[in-house]
Amino acid sequence: MIAPELLRTGAQAKSSDFYTIATLGSHSALQILKGAHDEGFRTLAIANRDTERLYRSYAFVDEVIGIDHYGQFMDLVPELEKRKMIIVPHGSFVAYLSLDEHKKMKIPYFGNKAVLDWEASREKQRDWLTRANLTLPQQFITAAEIDRPVIVKMYGAQGGKGYLFVRDAQDFEARGSHLTQQYMLQEYIIGVPAYIHYFYSPLTGKLEIMSMDRRYETNVDSLGRIPAAAQEHMDIDPSYVVVGNSPLVLRESMLAEAYRMGEDVVRVSQEICGEKGLFGAFCIETIITPEAKFFVMEISARIVAGTNPFIDGSPYSYLNYSEPMSTGRRIAREIKNALLSNNLHAVLDDSGIA
Ligand code: ATP
Repeated sequence: MIAPELLRTGAQAKSSDFYTIATLGSHSALQILKGAHDEGFRTLAIANRDTERLYRSYAFVDEVIGIDHYGQFMDLVPELEKRKMIIVPHGSFVAYLSLDEHKKMKIPYFGNKAVLDWEASREKQRDWLTRANLTLPQQFITAAEIDRPVIVKMYGAQGGKGYLFVRDAQDFEARGSHLTQQYMLQEYIIGVPAYIHYFYSPLTGKLEIMSMDRRYETNVDSLGRIPAAAQEHMDIDPSYVVVGNSPLVLRESMLAEAYRMGEDVVRVSQEICGEKGLFGAFCIETIITPEAKFFVMEISARIVAGTNPFIDGSPYSYLNYSEPMSTGRRIAREIKNALLSNNLHAVLDDSGIA
């Protein structure tokens, strides 16, 4: 049993008995490290030359290691493996580290790496989500099958970069057929995008809705500001590049379905990704139609940047906690609870357990 004092910061914080929560300095690192600090952990940001000054400027960041670029992270791993440290991954880990590198890294890692295979493959992810009774936009294998507006999604794109909206098969022929990258043709759903942030605790077996956001994307979210008649002569293509996130609260009548979706996604993950399944933070990315139906675009199996507006908690986290509870802090709380109940392995990937 680890005494609560060992988790506290302050005078004793330099003791090697303390766990350090570490992450890459980008994406949702501020939230993760603030949450870790508030829960009493030491904190470490691995930043690049452009961002290290920023992370050093915050009092809750105990240590910053600067590297030239995030691609160099794997060079640091042998040194980090020697320390008493837990990595909390976010979107930049997926962007900068390959699946193989994730698996090679033996630093204790919050989350289940087996989920990565199911998330990374569009086909496997579709299988997972369909088994969880989620409704997905229709997929078209060949251009000839296109019978409605479609969004062309490039593989490996981030934040909607390079996505193309096409009206019909003819439009695709004219504007999309030259594409050389791998892409997916997905039915374009007209509705409100809503990103639902969850936390599943392997310690209590309970799912929590932490918060929700909608993304602000350029230029698709600004097209409504120009009259349709004027757009006709302007030759504007919508683009879906995320520039920020704003908070969203769902009509309460839709909340039960949002909760059901999260529960079923976790249940199926326990059938397909080993016993531990998906745990910790995750996000189901949806578009809600006028019939109040959720169409699921994809799942992110870790903390998403859309949780950043809620560093001080959200209306939903307030319902469960009478203190500010961001997703970053919730992660640290789970690690702390695991340590205090001598059950750390429950919240770590099995490869990180000595
Ligand atoms: P990230 O990895 O950051 O989640 P991404 O590159 O995987 O982003 P998506 O989240 O799949 O991109 O999509 C980006 C945006 O494109 C969405 O926020 C939404 O506005 C739009 N979009 C994606 N799929 C659809 C769809 N089927 N119908 C309508 N709009 C869509």
